[in-house]
Amino acid sequence: MSPVAETPGIDGVTTGVLEHWVNGASWSGESTRTSPVFDPATGDIAAQVRLASESDCDAIAESSFEAFRSWRASSVATRTRVMFAYREILSERRETLAAVITAQHGKVLSDALGEVGRGIEVVEFACGVGELLKGTYNEQVSTDVDVWTVRQPVGPALGITPFNFPAMVPLWMLPVAIACGNTFILKPSERDPGAAVLLAQWFTEAGLPDGVLNVAHGDADAVNALIGHDRIRAVSFVGSTPIARHVATSATGSGKRVQALGGAKNHMIVLPDADLEAAADAAISAGYGSAGERCMAISVVVAVDPVGDELVAKIVERAKVLTIADGRSDGVDMGPLVTSVHRDRVRGYVDLGVEEGATLVLDGRNIVVEDRPDGFWMGPCLFDNVTTGMRIWSEEIFGPVLCVVRVATYDEAVALVDESDFGNGVALFTRDGGAARRFQQDIEAGMVGINVPIPVPVAYHSFGGWGDSLFGDTKAHGSEGVNFYTRAKTVTARWADPATRGPDLGFPRNT
Ligand code: NAD
Repeated sequence: MSPVAETPGIDGVTTGVLEHWVNGASWSGESTRTSPVFDPATGDIAAQVRLASESDCDAIAESSFEAFRSWRASSVATRTRVMFAYREILSERRETLAAVITAQHGKVLSDALGEVGRGIEVVEFACGVGELLKGTYNEQVSTDVDVWTVRQPVGPALGITPFNFPAMVPLWMLPVAIACGNTFILKPSERDPGAAVLLAQWFTEAGLPDGVLNVAHGDADAVNALIGHDRIRAVSFVGSTPIARHVATSATGSGKRVQALGGAKNHMIVLPDADLEAAADAAISAGYGSAGERCMAISVVVAVDPVGDELVAKIVERAKVLTIADGRSDGVDMGPLVTSVHRDRVRGYVDLGVEEGATLVLDGRNIVVEDRPDGFWMGPCLFDNVTTGMRIWSEEIFGPVLCVVRVATYDEAVALVDESDFGNGVALFTRDGGAARRFQQDIEAGMVGINVPIPVPVAYHSFGGWGDSLFGDTKAHGSEGVNFYTRAKTVTARWADPATRGPDLGFPRNT
């Protein structure tokens, strides 16, 4: 393991007070409230973030509305050029962005770089806005009449994002919204807000006009003020299910379109014919990567008889050699959890699993990391013999806790997955193409992996789950993202010879 690398000292992003980004500049607003931003590996408070008041949110929404008047009329050529310039800046500075993510979230640097890469892919998708916004045209639908449909921006849009992907999740939203001619307000997680500030500063550098992308920092007060604000026309949310439900209900109640992505409990079914080495590798990577703080993490392995004993043994063998340390060092597999409060909540679930009667095969609750005694550590935990009556099966834990459920048949495995309230991702490990085909048709989930444990769709497909993992009709990015941030307008036009004109009070007929 290498020594801990220094995070580039970016004043106002990793140290000091993180301010809002409004009208192309740092802005503190009137609120004096702040919240601490921790370095999860040391446990220190590294910075503070400003928390917007209701009147700050009002000013930010008005700024977005003003900017929308001109940005909606900007040419596709202008938007495309700005998007390409942004893509170049993000690519050149990806290491800096990743370092800021690691410093505030705790995930290891290579993982942070992976997140940044997937975010950049959405910017690349948005570079093709000319193609994405092409309308449809029908000539001569009636005599001398043509009809065409165009897609126009909806207006100022709001994105509320979670702590676990501080760059990728904002980038699921804002490049698509902005390329479609909307302005965008980003309300990032107050736990790791540094990446959001860089994303906005760099977009301004790329030539984005002031006010087209504003960042409003804050907590529930800011979210509630913004989702109820008249100027905002669309709300994208990503976070836990209870807050997703609240945002979806409140924002639709005030007449806005909403997509609210919630929590998850992703299952990985391992059939008897699967490659068990590959399945164990996948369970480890998807269960403990990013310390389990991924909405696409595998949290339940469903072992179909007779693979249970062998699979559990292989998972244990791999989990025991994982390196847990400061994510800024090389060769680290797992960093700390995001805050001590979250770490204690995850520990509480492990205590609960023991009370509920599951077999705790690996216990990472009391792990000690050398030189970092106050970091928010948690080692890999593995429960075997978990059943569907247990809360550790039904509730999202969001930490490095993997549950194994044993079942007798494929049908039992599928029924168990479908019983979950969530329907985000799911995976099947098998060598049987017929079983895989049947599975992808039958299963109740929005994203399916066949021998792929984390089936995160590429930018030109759309990301989103079913059930309590998504409230709203459209998923993020891809064509569904474009539809979400645009409204269809259909024009019917007649250019007829004046001699054919005359009054006709009947309902328009196509002739
Ligand atoms: P969270 O729900 O606590 O917070 C998400 C956002 O909501 C933050 O910006 C936060 O400031 C705001 N918020 C928190 N409490 C609020 C309240 N009472 N009222 C209004 N706004 C509030 O989620 P988190 O802990 O930051 O992120 C982890 C969760 O996000 C997990 O449940 C994870 O599964 C989920 N997630 C889902 C996806 C997905 O695509 N479905 C992706 C990433 C994360």
